[in-house]
Amino acid sequence: MSEHNDNAQPEGERTPVRIDLQQLLEAVQAHGQKTVDQQDEAAKDGQYDDAILDSSAIAPTDDEGNPVPVTIPIVLAPGVTVVYTTRLGGVSEGDFAHFNLGAKGGDLPERVRRNREALANELHARISLVNQVHSATPVDLDDLYEENAAYGFNASGMRVPGDPVEVDAVDRVSDDGTIQVIDADAQVTTRTGIALGVFAADCLPVLLADPEAGVTAAAHAGRKGLVDGVIDATVDMMVDKGAQRGRIVATLGPAICGDCYEVGDEIADAFDAVFPGTFTLTRFGGPGIDINKAALIALAKAGVDADRVFSSQPRVNAATQYLSHDAELEELCREDNEGDPALAERLGHIRHSMCTLENPLWFSHRRAQLAQKPHEGRMLALIVRR
Ligand SMILES: [Zn+2]
Repeated sequence: MSEHNDNAQPEGERTPVRIDLQQLLEAVQAHGQKTVDQQDEAAKDGQYDDAILDSSAIAPTDDEGNPVPVTIPIVLAPGVTVVYTTRLGGVSEGDFAHFNLGAKGGDLPERVRRNREALANELHARISLVNQVHSATPVDLDDLYEENAAYGFNASGMRVPGDPVEVDAVDRVSDDGTIQVIDADAQVTTRTGIALGVFAADCLPVLLADPEAGVTAAAHAGRKGLVDGVIDATVDMMVDKGAQRGRIVATLGPAICGDCYEVGDEIADAFDAVFPGTFTLTRFGGPGIDINKAALIALAKAGVDADRVFSSQPRVNAATQYLSHDAELEELCREDNEGDPALAERLGHIRHSMCTLENPLWFSHRRAQLAQKPHEGRMLALIVRR
């Protein structure tokens, strides 16, 4: 898939290693449900499931040249799956290489469309996207969802080629009537087969479900959204739709960690006043904040039990380890100028695999900034009920 051959290895040595979706799902199910603390301990001890580390070479594109996304699926509850996309397995190039799903950063719309369609195909689900504005506003997707794109529902405020221009069910359209926009930072639904998507490249995706009531939700929880109460508002809407707080399970997606998210004294103090104990001293030496910790505090306040917040880290650790010899990831690290060019070195320096800045599997706005890049791609964290 690469046109960059300067450092190409001989053909025979390029053996892309891919996560086998089914194996990963089975391994996750076998892993059972552990709390965040238990899973983190297990991960520290290197207790990965061997089943998913079995390597198998799968081409990054299919016979027609369509992208084959590398995603990390996690079973959150019976019938409810969370999926994290990575930078791998798409057709975007340059700063957006390879699996960029955001259309606002300057990537070619046609490539974004192809990536999104490939993702919908892989998920066997429709994808729903809204326009994230760092608000605390959730939307009831049951009222709003309408097929308007080849991959599902696009109300994210951008148009990609091939999207129809039907505009009935959305609350705002562009002046020329062609772009559908719903400003919101969380989606809630009782429908099955619809993957609620959160764009992210440092901000925190929070995925929630009450599997008994059949209610799922996805929230975009950046610094501002957390302070303004996006998690509380999302849980409230879930309850309005039949969920019970004590039954809700949740997990936190990839996001910049407290060791890396430097924000300055004033912002860190203000954030810590809302979420006590989230003030950090970053590895860059300045004051920072821990938005993951803040989200856990917000979830507890919203009535989501700590022992029902499951860690995604063991699965992401395993996926990262699994991809440690991936040819595509090696190529990205060589070319992205966002840290050590050697994949083994990059991975060796990771302290938190969920951290977008540290782990080259993820897009990171801050990491791109540090590399003096004008833009970067966006991943999606999704939740879907079957
Ligand atoms: Zn970090």
